[in-house]
Amino acid sequence: MPKIDDDIITIQPAYWPWQQSLLEQVLSLKKQARLPHALLIEAKSEQVGAAFIWHLTMLLLCNNNQSVVPCGLCQSCSLMKSNTYPDFTFVTLMTDGKTKKINKNIKIEQIRNLIHEVYLTRRYNNLKVIAIHPAEKMSIAGANSILKTLEEPAPYSLILLLTHNKGKVPVTIRSRCQVLTLEHPDRKMSLDWLAQHGLNQAESDLYLDFSTGDPLLALNLHSNQYAAVVKQFKSQFGLYINNEIDVNKLCSILVILDVSLVRRLLKMVFRAYSLQFSGFSEKTKQPKIHKIAGRQLLILSTQVDQQLMVEENNLNLQLQLEDVLISLKGIILRSNH
Ligand SMILES: [Zn+2]
Repeated sequence: MPKIDDDIITIQPAYWPWQQSLLEQVLSLKKQARLPHALLIEAKSEQVGAAFIWHLTMLLLCNNNQSVVPCGLCQSCSLMKSNTYPDFTFVTLMTDGKTKKINKNIKIEQIRNLIHEVYLTRRYNNLKVIAIHPAEKMSIAGANSILKTLEEPAPYSLILLLTHNKGKVPVTIRSRCQVLTLEHPDRKMSLDWLAQHGLNQAESDLYLDFSTGDPLLALNLHSNQYAAVVKQFKSQFGLYINNEIDVNKLCSILVILDVSLVRRLLKMVFRAYSLQFSGFSEKTKQPKIHKIAGRQLLILSTQVDQQLMVEENNLNLQLQLEDVLISLKGIILRSNH
């Protein structure tokens, strides 16, 4: 049995049309027997995760693949589909058994188990694949302990690292991997793909702006009706700044949302005000530059990035949000004087 975290039940392999050339590239390395021992793939979209790793692994293990599509029928494919391929190990962020929160890091014990797995004799006469995602979330100790394995790789093994932020993967690790990048598709391909998923042109344009060109995120935000959420939040935020509703009321519309949406809304507000304070706002004819407010906003936004909602299921979310919104209002009101 592959070592898979308990909370992952079944993974359906998946890839998207714009990933085809990267898949072809990896497959061609394998066919030429030039596959490296460690591959670091930077996916610009946070939506690319386990399903893509499953697809890529299945493709590399498949005995009869037609281009970038595994046959789905051979022994490797069948075992991968039922998550029982014995020479495949996947490590990701786990949920803490007691607190039910997702861990902030991939723990050293997980990496140690994985290293142990690398050097075990393979069960099939095929590649042994070890995958880590998100690679930037390895603890420092975990990252250090895998270095030696990257330097002295086991034969027939491939260590597959998937990250959304290459810059956060230690340079010692990056330098020992072959690095490939999975970009967002161009606008036309994104629009076509979103149209196939039922979005009209106006919706696609709007949501691709929200997602800065990431069609997978655009589709996700669309299914969460993000445009309506933004509209409601903007109007409530205006009332809050004008003292027409209190912080508690404003928070009440946020805490019912998915944490990732809350983070996104706050980023949007920070961005809008930082443009305004630095005199770049398009809406103001005669911009007033507020260096102090700009600096305070930057400090607050850094705090939000580092502390607020780093964990999902955060019980203190309401309190933390109230703190942020009160500080934010203070900065905005002081900048008006
Ligand atoms: Zn197959």
